[in-house]
Amino acid sequence: MAMAKGYAATDASKPLVPFSFERREPGDDDVLIDIKYCGVCHSDIHQARNEWGNSSFPMVPGHEIAGIVRAVGKNVTSFKVGDRAGVGCFVNSCTKCATRDVEVEQYLPGLIATYNGFEADGVTPTHGGYSDHIVVKEGYVLRIPDNLPLEAAAPLLCAGITLYSPLRHWKAGPGKKVAIVGMGGLGHMGVKLAHAMGAEVTVLSQSLSKKEDGLKFGANAYYATNDAATFKMLAGTFDLIICTVSTGIDWNAYLGLLKVDGSMVLVGAPENPVPVHAFALIPGRRSLSGSMIGSIKETQDMLDFCGEHGIAADIEVIDIKDVNEAYGRVLKSDVRYRFVIDMASLD
Ligand code: NAP
Ligand code: ZN
Repeated sequence: MAMAKGYAATDASKPLVPFSFERREPGDDDVLIDIKYCGVCHSDIHQARNEWGNSSFPMVPGHEIAGIVRAVGKNVTSFKVGDRAGVGCFVNSCTKCATRDVEVEQYLPGLIATYNGFEADGVTPTHGGYSDHIVVKEGYVLRIPDNLPLEAAAPLLCAGITLYSPLRHWKAGPGKKVAIVGMGGLGHMGVKLAHAMGAEVTVLSQSLSKKEDGLKFGANAYYATNDAATFKMLAGTFDLIICTVSTGIDWNAYLGLLKVDGSMVLVGAPENPVPVHAFALIPGRRSLSGSMIGSIKETQDMLDFCGEHGIAADIEVIDIKDVNEAYGRVLKSDVRYRFVIDMASLD
Protein backbone atom coordinates (compact mmCIF):
# COMPACT_ATOMS: atom_id res chain seq x y z
CA MET A 1 0.00 0.00 0.00
CA ALA A 2 1.12 3.55 -0.74
CA MET A 3 -0.37 6.71 0.67
CA ALA A 4 -2.05 9.07 -1.78
CA LYS A 5 -2.90 12.72 -1.22
CA GLY A 6 -6.07 14.23 -2.56
CA TYR A 7 -9.30 16.07 -1.83
CA ALA A 8 -12.47 14.32 -0.70
CA ALA A 9 -16.11 14.95 0.05
CA THR A 10 -16.68 13.56 3.52
CA ASP A 11 -20.44 14.02 3.42
CA ALA A 12 -23.05 15.30 1.02
CA SER A 13 -23.43 18.70 2.64
CA LYS A 14 -19.80 19.66 3.30
CA PRO A 15 -17.13 21.19 1.05
CA LEU A 16 -14.29 19.02 -0.20
CA VAL A 17 -11.26 18.92 2.10
CA PRO A 18 -7.66 17.60 1.93
CA PHE A 19 -7.65 13.83 2.41
CA SER A 20 -5.01 11.07 2.56
CA PHE A 21 -5.80 7.47 1.67
CA GLU A 22 -4.18 4.20 0.62
CA ARG A 23 -3.75 3.09 -2.97
CA ARG A 24 -2.77 -0.48 -3.81
CA GLU A 25 0.78 -1.22 -4.97
CA PRO A 26 0.78 -1.87 -8.72
CA GLY A 27 0.31 -5.56 -9.50
CA ASP A 28 1.67 -7.37 -12.57
CA ASP A 29 -1.12 -6.03 -14.83
CA ASP A 30 -1.26 -2.51 -13.41
CA VAL A 31 -0.08 0.92 -14.47
CA LEU A 32 0.81 3.52 -11.83
CA ILE A 33 0.08 7.03 -13.10
CA ASP A 34 1.23 10.31 -11.59
CA ILE A 35 -1.84 12.48 -12.07
CA LYS A 36 -0.99 15.85 -13.59
CA TYR A 37 -4.49 17.16 -14.33
CA CYS A 38 -8.06 16.19 -13.55
CA GLY A 39 -11.19 17.76 -15.02
CA VAL A 40 -14.17 18.79 -12.89
CA CYS A 41 -17.28 17.09 -14.30
CA HIS A 42 -20.80 18.00 -13.21
CA SER A 43 -21.17 14.32 -12.28
CA ASP A 44 -18.53 14.94 -9.58
CA ILE A 45 -20.87 17.52 -8.07
CA HIS A 46 -24.00 15.33 -8.36
CA GLN A 47 -22.16 12.54 -6.54
CA ALA A 48 -20.29 14.65 -3.96
CA ARG A 49 -23.75 15.99 -3.01
CA ASN A 50 -25.45 12.59 -3.24
CA GLU A 51 -27.97 13.90 -5.79
CA TRP A 52 -28.24 10.47 -7.42
CA GLY A 53 -28.72 8.75 -4.04
CA ASN A 54 -25.82 6.33 -4.54
CA SER A 55 -22.92 8.07 -2.85
CA SER A 56 -20.52 6.60 -0.35
CA PHE A 57 -18.19 8.75 1.71
CA PRO A 58 -15.41 9.70 2.01
CA MET A 59 -15.31 10.19 -1.78
CA VAL A 60 -12.38 11.41 -3.86
CA PRO A 61 -14.08 12.52 -7.10
CA GLY A 62 -12.51 12.88 -10.53
CA HIS A 63 -12.78 10.80 -13.70
CA GLU A 64 -11.09 13.01 -16.27
CA ILE A 65 -7.56 12.02 -15.43
CA ALA A 66 -4.42 12.82 -17.42
CA GLY A 67 -0.93 12.05 -16.24
CA ILE A 68 2.41 10.36 -16.77
CA VAL A 69 3.22 6.70 -16.16
CA ARG A 70 5.51 6.27 -13.14
CA ALA A 71 5.66 2.46 -13.02
CA VAL A 72 4.26 -0.60 -14.79
CA GLY A 73 3.72 -4.22 -13.70
CA LYS A 74 5.71 -6.97 -15.39
CA ASN A 75 2.88 -8.09 -17.71
CA VAL A 76 2.19 -4.58 -19.03
CA THR A 77 3.14 -4.22 -22.70
CA SER A 78 1.34 -1.14 -24.01
CA PHE A 79 2.66 1.49 -21.58
CA LYS A 80 6.12 2.32 -20.29
CA VAL A 81 7.49 4.71 -17.69
CA GLY A 82 7.18 8.32 -18.91
CA ASP A 83 4.24 7.73 -21.27
CA ARG A 84 1.24 10.08 -21.29
CA ALA A 85 -1.80 8.26 -19.96
CA GLY A 86 -5.47 8.88 -19.28
CA VAL A 87 -8.14 7.31 -17.10
CA GLY A 88 -11.85 7.91 -17.54
CA CYS A 89 -15.02 6.94 -15.72
CA PHE A 90 -14.34 3.26 -15.04
CA VAL A 91 -11.37 1.14 -14.04
CA ASN A 92 -12.79 -2.34 -14.69
CA SER A 93 -15.80 -3.68 -16.58
CA CYS A 94 -15.62 -7.44 -16.81
CA THR A 95 -15.74 -8.52 -13.21
CA LYS A 96 -18.97 -10.50 -13.78
CA CYS A 97 -18.45 -11.62 -17.40
CA ALA A 98 -16.61 -14.58 -18.88
CA THR A 99 -15.13 -12.39 -21.59
CA ARG A 100 -14.81 -8.64 -21.84
CA ASP A 101 -17.33 -7.10 -24.23
CA VAL A 102 -15.26 -4.31 -25.71
CA GLU A 103 -18.15 -2.68 -27.59
CA VAL A 104 -20.68 -1.92 -24.85
CA GLU A 105 -18.74 -2.66 -21.67
CA GLN A 106 -19.88 0.57 -20.01
CA TYR A 107 -23.37 -0.95 -19.68
CA LEU A 108 -22.32 -4.22 -18.04
CA PRO A 109 -23.18 -5.04 -14.43
CA GLY A 110 -19.56 -5.61 -13.45
CA LEU A 111 -18.50 -2.05 -14.20
CA ILE A 112 -16.28 -0.52 -11.53
CA ALA A 113 -16.49 3.24 -11.41
CA THR A 114 -13.25 5.18 -11.05
CA TYR A 115 -14.63 6.64 -7.83
CA ASN A 116 -17.74 6.18 -5.69
CA GLY A 117 -17.52 2.47 -6.45
CA PHE A 118 -15.93 -0.64 -5.02
CA GLU A 119 -13.14 -2.83 -6.29
CA ALA A 120 -14.02 -6.38 -7.35
CA ASP A 121 -13.75 -7.48 -3.68
CA GLY A 122 -16.89 -5.40 -3.04
CA VAL A 123 -15.42 -3.66 0.01
CA THR A 124 -12.43 -1.56 -1.04
CA PRO A 125 -13.67 1.85 -2.20
CA THR A 126 -12.37 3.28 -5.46
CA HIS A 127 -11.07 6.83 -5.36
CA GLY A 128 -10.76 9.18 -8.31
CA GLY A 129 -8.51 11.74 -9.85
CA TYR A 130 -8.52 14.65 -7.40
CA SER A 131 -5.33 13.03 -6.11
CA ASP A 132 -1.62 12.66 -6.80
CA HIS A 133 -1.56 9.15 -8.30
CA ILE A 134 -3.73 6.23 -9.33
CA VAL A 135 -3.17 2.52 -10.02
CA VAL A 136 -5.25 1.07 -12.87
CA LYS A 137 -5.28 -2.19 -14.84
CA GLU A 138 -3.54 -1.74 -18.19
CA GLY A 139 -6.70 -2.50 -20.19
CA TYR A 140 -8.44 0.55 -18.72
CA VAL A 141 -5.68 3.09 -19.38
CA LEU A 142 -5.94 5.32 -22.46
CA ARG A 143 -3.30 6.81 -24.74
CA ILE A 144 -3.40 10.59 -25.06
CA PRO A 145 -2.25 11.85 -28.49
CA ASP A 146 1.06 13.71 -28.35
CA ASN A 147 -0.28 16.83 -30.06
CA LEU A 148 -2.89 17.55 -27.37
CA PRO A 149 -1.86 19.38 -24.18
CA LEU A 150 -2.47 17.07 -21.19
CA GLU A 151 -4.59 19.62 -19.35
CA ALA A 152 -6.91 20.23 -22.31
CA ALA A 153 -7.08 16.51 -23.10
CA ALA A 154 -8.16 15.51 -19.56
CA PRO A 155 -11.86 16.46 -20.13
CA LEU A 156 -11.98 14.22 -23.20
CA LEU A 157 -11.93 11.23 -20.84
CA CYS A 158 -15.52 11.94 -19.79
CA ALA A 159 -16.98 15.00 -21.53
CA GLY A 160 -15.42 14.01 -24.85
CA ILE A 161 -16.46 10.37 -24.93
CA THR A 162 -19.94 11.10 -23.53
CA LEU A 163 -20.70 13.16 -26.64
CA TYR A 164 -18.62 11.17 -29.13
CA SER A 165 -20.42 7.90 -28.41
CA PRO A 166 -24.02 9.03 -29.13
CA LEU A 167 -22.87 11.16 -32.07
CA ARG A 168 -21.36 8.01 -33.62
CA HIS A 169 -24.22 5.71 -32.56
CA TRP A 170 -26.88 7.99 -34.07
CA LYS A 171 -24.63 8.61 -37.11
CA ALA A 172 -23.98 12.32 -36.91
CA GLY A 173 -22.29 13.35 -40.13
CA PRO A 174 -22.82 15.16 -43.42
CA GLY A 175 -26.50 15.83 -44.11
CA LYS A 176 -27.52 15.38 -40.45
CA LYS A 177 -28.91 18.23 -38.39
CA VAL A 178 -27.70 17.92 -34.81
CA ALA A 179 -28.67 20.12 -31.86
CA ILE A 180 -26.65 20.27 -28.68
CA VAL A 181 -28.67 21.46 -25.69
CA GLY A 182 -26.57 23.22 -23.02
CA MET A 183 -23.08 24.48 -23.82
CA GLY A 184 -21.14 23.58 -20.68
CA GLY A 185 -18.37 21.00 -20.32
CA LEU A 186 -20.12 18.25 -22.27
CA GLY A 187 -21.99 20.54 -24.64
CA HIS A 188 -18.96 22.44 -25.93
CA MET A 189 -17.24 19.13 -26.70
CA GLY A 190 -20.39 18.03 -28.52
CA VAL A 191 -20.25 21.10 -30.75
CA LYS A 192 -16.60 20.53 -31.64
CA LEU A 193 -17.03 16.80 -32.26
CA ALA A 194 -20.27 16.99 -34.26
CA HIS A 195 -18.75 19.73 -36.41
CA ALA A 196 -15.61 17.64 -37.02
CA MET A 197 -17.83 14.70 -38.02
CA GLY A 198 -19.40 16.91 -40.69
CA ALA A 199 -22.86 17.40 -39.17
CA GLU A 200 -24.77 20.69 -39.28
CA VAL A 201 -24.66 21.80 -35.64
CA THR A 202 -27.04 24.04 -33.71
CA VAL A 203 -26.53 25.06 -30.09
CA LEU A 204 -29.58 25.53 -27.87
CA SER A 205 -28.36 27.49 -24.86
CA GLN A 206 -30.31 29.36 -22.20
CA SER A 207 -29.21 32.71 -23.62
CA LEU A 208 -27.05 34.10 -26.42
CA SER A 209 -24.22 35.05 -24.02
CA LYS A 210 -21.88 32.32 -25.33
CA LYS A 211 -22.90 32.57 -29.00
CA GLU A 212 -19.54 33.83 -30.23
CA ASP A 213 -17.77 30.88 -28.60
CA GLY A 214 -20.33 28.41 -29.97
CA LEU A 215 -19.75 29.60 -33.52
CA LYS A 216 -15.99 29.43 -32.93
CA PHE A 217 -16.34 25.81 -31.75
CA GLY A 218 -18.01 24.99 -35.08
CA ALA A 219 -21.73 25.59 -34.60
CA ASN A 220 -23.66 26.67 -37.69
CA ALA A 221 -26.39 28.28 -35.61
CA TYR A 222 -27.01 29.27 -31.99
CA TYR A 223 -30.39 29.93 -30.36
CA ALA A 224 -31.58 31.01 -26.93
CA THR A 225 -34.05 28.70 -25.21
CA ASN A 226 -35.26 31.53 -22.96
CA ASP A 227 -36.92 32.91 -26.09
CA ALA A 228 -40.20 31.08 -26.82
CA ALA A 229 -39.87 31.99 -30.51
CA THR A 230 -36.93 29.54 -30.76
CA PHE A 231 -39.25 26.58 -30.21
CA LYS A 232 -41.70 27.79 -32.87
CA MET A 233 -39.01 28.57 -35.41
CA LEU A 234 -37.15 25.28 -35.03
CA ALA A 235 -40.14 22.91 -34.74
CA GLY A 236 -39.48 19.65 -36.65
CA THR A 237 -35.88 20.57 -37.55
CA PHE A 238 -33.40 18.07 -36.08
CA ASP A 239 -32.39 14.48 -36.77
CA LEU A 240 -30.64 14.28 -33.43
CA ILE A 241 -30.78 16.32 -30.24
CA ILE A 242 -28.27 15.61 -27.50
CA CYS A 243 -29.30 17.07 -24.18
CA THR A 244 -26.46 17.80 -21.76
CA VAL A 245 -28.49 19.79 -19.24
CA SER A 246 -27.84 18.82 -15.62
CA THR A 247 -31.27 19.75 -14.33
CA GLY A 248 -34.95 19.42 -15.24
CA ILE A 249 -36.19 21.27 -18.34
CA ASP A 250 -39.33 21.14 -20.49
CA TRP A 251 -38.42 17.93 -22.35
CA ASN A 252 -41.66 17.99 -24.33
CA ALA A 253 -40.79 21.33 -25.89
CA TYR A 254 -37.41 19.98 -27.05
CA LEU A 255 -38.97 16.79 -28.46
CA GLY A 256 -41.08 19.02 -30.68
CA LEU A 257 -37.88 20.15 -32.42
CA LEU A 258 -37.24 16.66 -33.84
CA LYS A 259 -37.99 15.65 -37.43
CA VAL A 260 -39.98 12.50 -38.18
CA ASP A 261 -37.93 9.57 -36.79
CA GLY A 262 -35.64 11.97 -34.96
CA SER A 263 -34.03 11.03 -31.65
CA MET A 264 -33.38 13.00 -28.51
CA VAL A 265 -30.62 11.52 -26.39
CA LEU A 266 -30.23 12.39 -22.74
CA VAL A 267 -26.68 12.46 -21.46
CA GLY A 268 -27.36 15.08 -18.78
CA ALA A 269 -28.40 13.24 -15.64
CA PRO A 270 -30.66 15.40 -13.46
CA GLU A 271 -31.55 14.44 -9.96
CA ASN A 272 -35.31 14.18 -10.61
CA PRO A 273 -37.41 12.05 -13.03
CA VAL A 274 -38.01 13.23 -16.59
CA PRO A 275 -41.73 13.79 -17.29
CA VAL A 276 -42.57 13.23 -20.96
CA HIS A 277 -45.95 13.43 -22.66
CA ALA A 278 -46.84 10.54 -25.00
CA PHE A 279 -47.91 13.08 -27.62
CA ALA A 280 -44.45 14.58 -27.65
CA LEU A 281 -43.30 11.25 -29.10
CA ILE A 282 -46.19 9.73 -31.04
CA PRO A 283 -46.59 12.30 -33.83
CA GLY A 284 -43.34 12.08 -35.73
CA ARG A 285 -42.38 8.58 -34.44
CA ARG A 286 -39.82 10.28 -32.23
CA SER A 287 -37.47 8.51 -29.83
CA LEU A 288 -36.15 9.48 -26.43
CA SER A 289 -32.98 7.66 -25.39
CA GLY A 290 -30.05 7.83 -23.02
CA SER A 291 -26.36 7.25 -23.44
CA MET A 292 -23.55 6.69 -20.94
CA ILE A 293 -19.89 7.50 -21.62
CA GLY A 294 -18.34 4.91 -24.00
CA SER A 295 -16.27 1.73 -23.96
CA ILE A 296 -12.50 1.89 -23.56
CA LYS A 297 -12.15 0.96 -27.24
CA GLU A 298 -14.47 3.79 -28.27
CA THR A 299 -12.74 6.20 -25.87
CA GLN A 300 -9.42 5.43 -27.56
CA ASP A 301 -11.07 5.95 -30.98
CA MET A 302 -12.35 9.31 -29.71
CA LEU A 303 -8.91 10.34 -28.42
CA ASP A 304 -7.31 9.39 -31.74
CA PHE A 305 -10.05 11.30 -33.62
CA CYS A 306 -9.38 14.35 -31.41
CA GLY A 307 -5.65 14.01 -32.07
CA GLU A 308 -6.23 13.91 -35.83
CA HIS A 309 -8.57 16.91 -35.76
CA GLY A 310 -6.68 18.89 -33.10
CA ILE A 311 -9.72 18.87 -30.78
CA ALA A 312 -9.46 19.36 -27.01
CA ALA A 313 -11.46 21.12 -24.32
CA ASP A 314 -11.48 24.86 -23.66
CA ILE A 315 -10.45 24.98 -20.03
CA GLU A 316 -9.81 27.07 -16.94
CA VAL A 317 -6.94 25.57 -14.92
CA ILE A 318 -7.40 25.88 -11.15
CA ASP A 319 -5.56 25.02 -7.95
CA ILE A 320 -7.13 22.20 -5.99
CA LYS A 321 -7.85 24.47 -3.02
CA ASP A 322 -10.28 26.34 -5.28
CA VAL A 323 -12.34 23.28 -6.20
CA ASN A 324 -15.32 24.17 -3.99
CA GLU A 325 -15.53 27.62 -5.56
CA ALA A 326 -15.33 25.95 -8.98
CA TYR A 327 -18.29 23.71 -8.06
CA GLY A 328 -20.29 26.84 -7.24
CA ARG A 329 -19.43 28.37 -10.58
CA VAL A 330 -20.35 25.21 -12.52
CA LEU A 331 -23.75 25.27 -10.82
CA LYS A 332 -24.25 28.82 -12.11
CA SER A 333 -23.25 27.78 -15.69
CA ASP A 334 -20.26 30.08 -15.17
CA VAL A 335 -17.47 27.95 -16.61
CA ARG A 336 -15.58 28.41 -19.90
CA TYR A 337 -15.88 25.46 -20.51
CA ARG A 338 -14.29 22.99 -18.14
CA PHE A 339 -12.40 23.48 -14.89
CA VAL A 340 -9.25 21.38 -14.78
CA ILE A 341 -7.32 20.93 -11.53
CA ASP A 342 -3.54 21.30 -11.76
CA MET A 343 -2.40 18.54 -9.43
CA ALA A 344 0.94 20.28 -8.82
CA SER A 345 -1.13 22.53 -6.54
CA LEU A 346 -1.57 19.61 -4.10
CA ASP A 347 2.02 20.05 -2.85
P1 NAP B 1 -22.10 21.72 -17.02
O1 NAP B 1 -20.73 22.11 -17.46
O2 NAP B 1 -22.66 22.30 -15.78
O3 NAP B 1 -23.08 21.97 -18.28
C1 NAP B 1 -24.47 21.85 -18.17
C2 NAP B 1 -25.11 22.92 -19.04
O4 NAP B 1 -26.53 22.76 -18.92
C3 NAP B 1 -24.85 24.34 -18.60
O5 NAP B 1 -23.66 24.86 -19.10
C4 NAP B 1 -26.04 25.07 -19.17
O6 NAP B 1 -25.80 25.37 -20.54
C5 NAP B 1 -27.15 24.02 -19.12
N1 NAP B 1 -28.06 24.29 -18.00
C6 NAP B 1 -27.74 24.32 -16.67
N2 NAP B 1 -28.83 24.64 -15.94
C7 NAP B 1 -29.85 24.80 -16.82
C8 NAP B 1 -31.22 25.14 -16.69
N3 NAP B 1 -31.77 25.38 -15.49
N4 NAP B 1 -31.98 25.23 -17.81
C9 NAP B 1 -31.43 25.00 -19.02
N5 NAP B 1 -30.13 24.68 -19.20
C10 NAP B 1 -29.35 24.59 -18.13
O7 NAP B 1 -22.16 20.14 -16.79
P2 NAP B 1 -21.45 18.94 -17.58
O8 NAP B 1 -20.23 18.54 -16.83
O9 NAP B 1 -21.40 19.27 -19.01
O10 NAP B 1 -22.51 17.77 -17.31
C11 NAP B 1 -23.84 17.90 -17.77
C12 NAP B 1 -24.69 16.75 -17.28
O11 NAP B 1 -24.24 15.54 -17.90
C13 NAP B 1 -24.63 16.49 -15.77
O12 NAP B 1 -25.92 16.11 -15.33
C14 NAP B 1 -23.66 15.31 -15.67
O13 NAP B 1 -23.84 14.55 -14.51
C15 NAP B 1 -24.06 14.54 -16.89
N6 NAP B 1 -23.04 13.60 -17.38
C16 NAP B 1 -23.52 12.46 -17.95
C17 NAP B 1 -22.63 11.56 -18.50
C18 NAP B 1 -23.15 10.34 -19.17
O14 NAP B 1 -22.37 9.38 -19.37
N7 NAP B 1 -24.40 10.31 -19.57
C19 NAP B 1 -21.25 11.80 -18.43
C20 NAP B 1 -20.82 13.00 -17.86
C21 NAP B 1 -21.72 13.90 -17.34
P3 NAP B 1 -26.09 26.83 -21.12
O15 NAP B 1 -25.37 27.78 -20.23
O16 NAP B 1 -25.53 26.75 -22.50
O17 NAP B 1 -27.57 27.00 -21.11
ZN1 ZN C 1 -17.99 12.95 -16.04
